[in-house]
Amino acid sequence: MNAGELPAIVVEDLRKAYGGTPALDGVSFSVPPGELFAYLGPNGAGKSTTIRILTGLTRKSGGRAVLGGADIDRDPIGAKRRCGVVMQHVNLDGDLSLDENMDIHGRLFGMSAADRRARTAELLEVVDLADRRHRLVNTLSGGMKRRLMIARALMHRPAILFLDEPTVGLDADIRRRIWGLIKTIQKQGATVFLTTHYIEEAEFLADRVAFLDTGRIRALDSPAALIARVGGWAFDRLGPEGMTTRYFADREAAQAAIATADDALTLRRANLEDAFLTLTGKAVR
Ligand code: ADP
Repeated sequence: MNAGELPAIVVEDLRKAYGGTPALDGVSFSVPPGELFAYLGPNGAGKSTTIRILTGLTRKSGGRAVLGGADIDRDPIGAKRRCGVVMQHVNLDGDLSLDENMDIHGRLFGMSAADRRARTAELLEVVDLADRRHRLVNTLSGGMKRRLMIARALMHRPAILFLDEPTVGLDADIRRRIWGLIKTIQKQGATVFLTTHYIEEAEFLADRVAFLDTGRIRALDSPAALIARVGGWAFDRLGPEGMTTRYFADREAAQAAIATADDALTLRRANLEDAFLTLTGKAVR
């Protein structure tokens, strides 16, 4: 981030309780412009709740959030204009064409007819749906609908794109394609905040990853730095008590330990899953 440049997202001590139960228990982080930031955690961790609060769909119970300089309490409309949102459920109008779905979104944001036309054409190219623009949305596959939702979220040129579980339920090849699209959008200058419970998705895409568990951030860093925290090397041992894993800072230390062990072991590089399990206290050692 350049000196003097505002962070794209600032979140301070964000809290949300449903009834008496905390879903977000004091979450703080800051995302510089242009970063791809992943919020990784199991189901129920509080990922959707965070996106819903930041994008104005749910009220927070406490804390503060600022998007591109716009405080979500003091300037909710300004904050909303700065973000595009793709939630998990498909909320396209199936009986309208791709073009029409894009156009309605542009109207909501007060874009001129000429600008809506130009932007729709440009974005349908980016998501590779230009040849279907006059079809009804109901005729699209699940992966195409997801791409259309991403295009629609970008219609009003938001600086920040929020993606809630962008590839959940999609096949591996389609997931790769969406990953490519997300990288392209980042390259074009957007800040991307995505939630996922797929560890490989965060490892592949993110500049930095926050590990969220039961409403709290347990660790936040680049994937490489998070992996280095548990040690770069791991070996797995299948014993009577199940699979256990030990971590080592370097390959030599791991090999020395293996040499003294009496059964079959696999030495491998540690990955983000190791880091997640260890740093959230879920690892079985
Ligand atoms: P994630 O997106 O990580 O799966 P959520 O943010 O959806 O997690 O949910 C976090 C917690 O808040 C969960 O325990 C969930 O059951 C609870 N929760 C979410 N939405 C509501 C709601 N509308 N009413 C009550 N509890 C909710």
